[in-house]
This record gives sequence, C-alpha cells and structure tokens, in this order.
Amino acid sequence: MTIRESTVEAAADLASSIRKFAAESRTLEPDAAERRHLLSRVNEFAEDFLAGVDSRPAFIETEHKGRGLYASPIVETGMDLDAVLRLFKDNVTDVGLSPVSPRFLAYIPPCSLYQGALGDFLAAITNQFAGYFSSCPGAARMENQLLRWMADLIGYPPGALGAMLSGGSLAILSSVVTARDAHGLKGRDYETCVVYMTNLTHHAMDKALRIAGMKEAIRRRVGMDGGFRMDPRQLDQAIRADLAAGLRPWMVAASAGTTDLGCVDPLDALADVAARHALWFHVDGAYGGLFILSDLVRDKFKGIERADSVVLNAHKALFTPFGLAVVLVRDGQLLQRAHFHTANYLQDTLLEEDEVSPADLGPELTRNFRGPRLWLPLKLLGVAPFRAALSEKILLTRYAYEKIKALPRFEVGPYPDLSVFAFRYVPEQGDADEFNRRLVDAIRRDGTILLSSTTLDGRYMIRFAVLSYRTHLDTIDLAIDVIRKTIATLK
Ligand SMILES: *Cc1c(COP(=O)(O)O)cnc(C)c1O
Repeated sequence: MTIRESTVEAAADLASSIRKFAAESRTLEPDAAERRHLLSRVNEFAEDFLAGVDSRPAFIETEHKGRGLYASPIVETGMDLDAVLRLFKDNVTDVGLSPVSPRFLAYIPPCSLYQGALGDFLAAITNQFAGYFSSCPGAARMENQLLRWMADLIGYPPGALGAMLSGGSLAILSSVVTARDAHGLKGRDYETCVVYMTNLTHHAMDKALRIAGMKEAIRRRVGMDGGFRMDPRQLDQAIRADLAAGLRPWMVAASAGTTDLGCVDPLDALADVAARHALWFHVDGAYGGLFILSDLVRDKFKGIERADSVVLNAHKALFTPFGLAVVLVRDGQLLQRAHFHTANYLQDTLLEEDEVSPADLGPELTRNFRGPRLWLPLKLLGVAPFRAALSEKILLTRYAYEKIKALPRFEVGPYPDLSVFAFRYVPEQGDADEFNRRLVDAIRRDGTILLSSTTLDGRYMIRFAVLSYRTHLDTIDLAIDVIRKTIATLK
C-alpha cells in the first residue's frame, strides 16, 4: 500500500466517524417543526403559570425543598419535554418564594415583565457578543442608549458613562474600584482610608470593599436624623475628626432608598459635604433611584446629579427579569480607566470604535446581552406606564401605612419616602419582639402574603414593601386582613 492510499483510507475512516458523531449529536439542532413543538409546549407551561399568578401564594413551603431534581440525575440520554417541565414545576417554580406573586411584600419585591422575558429570549436566540462595539455595534449601541437614558433621568452631563451588570452588588463593586482608582488609593492606603455610611447602608457595600481587597478600609457609621437618613452635619464632623486624626476620608456612600425603610438620604446636602472635602460621592439607588420617574417623589432625589457614581437596579423598579443593574459614573473616563484592559488575542479590531464598549467599562468580557430585557419593554410600552406603576406603588404604600397606623396597638416607623415602611404590633402582654417574630413566621407559613423584618434601634420591626407591578389595591387590603387574622390566631 502506498502512502497516498493509506491517507485516502484514513480520510475515509475519519469521514465515517465524523458522520457517526454528527448523527449522534443531531438533536442539538432541532429543525423548524421540532422548534415549534418545543416552544409551544414551553409557552403552554408559561401560560398555565401566568394564569394563576395573581392569586399565587407568595411562599410555598414544602418538605422536599426541590430534592426531586436529584432523583432525576444528569445521564447520557434525554427525557421527554413534558416530564422535564413537570420536574421544573414540582421542584423549582412551586417551591419557596414566588417572586412574581403580587402578594410578595417582603425584602424588595421583584417581578418580571413578560416583554422583558421575550427580550431575554431574543438575546439568547441571537446570542450577540455584547462585549465590544467592534464585534456587535448594535448590542453596544442598545446598551449605551439605555444607559444614556438613565444618565439623563438623573441629570448627568454628557461625559457620563455606565455599564450594565448582573445586579446591584456588581454595580457597587464597579463603583468601589472606580472610586479607589480615581483617588489613587494603593494597598498601603487601605487601612487609613475612610468610607462614610450609615447603619442602613446595604451590605453590598461592605461586600464590595472586601472583594476589592479593601476590607481594612475604615467604615464610619454616620448618625442619622429622626427619619433614618444620613445626617450631613454629623457627616461633616466625622470627616473633620478623621482628617485631624491623620486618616484619609475617601468616599461617602449615600442611599437613595434604603432597603430597610426606603428612606432617601438628603443627597444635595451630602453632596455639599463631600465636595467641601473632595470625597467621592456614591449614591446607592439600587432599590429607590428609579423612583425619580415619578412626579410624586422626584424632588427627593435633588443632588443625585452631583454624585460621582450611582447604582440603579432595573430588576427592581423597572420590573425586568433578574440580572440587570447599572453603574453610572459622572466622569465616564474614570469608569473606563478602572476597567479597561486588552490582550494580544484581542488585537483584531473588526470595526472602527465610534462608541464605548461594555467590556471596557465593566469586569466582564463575554457577557450576557442584557439590553433587550429592558429595551424591548421600553420600546413596546414607552416610559409612561412605568411612571404610573411607580406612582401607584408609592400611593399604595401610603395607603397601607395609614391603614396600619390607624389599627389599635400597631406602631409604625417613619412615613414612607418611597414604597417601604416598618410597623409592629404591641401585644397587651409579653415581649413585643418575640410576638412580631412569631407573627412574621406564621404569615410565612400561611403563605398567602409574604412580609420580612428588620431591626431598627434594637427593635424587631416588620417591613411592608410594595414594588411589583402586579400589586394593586386589593392586594394591600388582603395583606392587612391577613395580618389582623394572623394576630388573632397568635393571641
Ligand atoms: C437590592 C439592593 C442592593 C443589591 O442589589 P442586587 O441586585 O441584589 O445585587 C444594593 N443596595 C440596595 C439599596 C438594594 O436595595
């Protein structure tokens, strides 16, 4: 046999093996009829799910806690779609929290716009590489347009830039590293630099500092006014004391809507203090910042345009599916300087860069194309329904506050700035903390509605939080009813 013959034979062998593997992997490429079948079954599942969503319990307690998934291990051969959807329903959707339920009044209530889910579908089907303008200019432009829209909402100048990240925690991390680099902080400075926050600052700030390698940074807990807002006078005093002690005041971390109570810090007055001492002024608007869309509360955000960095979560107050928050930086160059990187294998630039690229403004390279989950809803619906929904949430919260305040033996926290307030029931006898803990627990086990709690000035308080676009007046009345009835059963 000549060498040439053996090569031909080897190639024939190879081709036959290739065809065998191609046939075995053929199911990875469903044809049009198969796709129609899959999508129609998934759509039926979605419709069944959504048909019951308005009366869906906010919490479903089960013994198994989704363990059925383990009874169906990942093996060599596939399963029928109906059986898979059943596994999904029994072990995932019908277990634990129901974040889409209008009766979810705990934490920061999430929900997920149908149009946003379709945006995710389009993004996943087309799978555009959304890291660089040079690879998918349209994806970069879409995200930059949405970021510009949000920058305009808060009154940022044209030089502002932002990044779309998976959530508030990541957006806060990007704010921290941007602020660190902007102030030229090096490892040796970490033990003497000071961050000013309050006891109600979200823990994502502490976490970001730690992940950024700055866990030694001094956290100064500034005192609050009677409405649980950072007090600018006490901030100024704390900065002066730290300067006098030879420390390095670095960042003011203010909140535009705390998670505990929805309080908005006096941003304009805090911006004055930060500017006076040349500190980085960060505003965490993850929960509350987008309430700037509502005329009812817009004036509370005065001063946000002076922040050096702002975090806003679209998956909270813009109702998108989970996985979309933005960091905006007033001087966009600083965001880019903190995140830009390149490498030899990235040297082929396919198109001229006439827009900034997401990969240069955040920690990710290959990234989820998040834009469509917000772009599609905004394009289809316009901004107006979002404004109306947020105004409705504010008024529902005020309504609930007044109703609960008027009930005998109920105590309420401060009047809501946005859509959260705290309350507790004061029993005739026994420990109030203990009683309210039992109350929250009994409400969770009942599952009709869900409330969560916090500790304010050392007292156990129940939070009432409204943010789902599906929550309306009937839900609030139902919730108050559940609270009263549950109290009666506990007495
Ligand atoms: C929710 C929230 C965060 C964290 O955002 P994630 O998207 O959950 O990471 C940060 N700050 C505030 C005020 C929040 O309410």
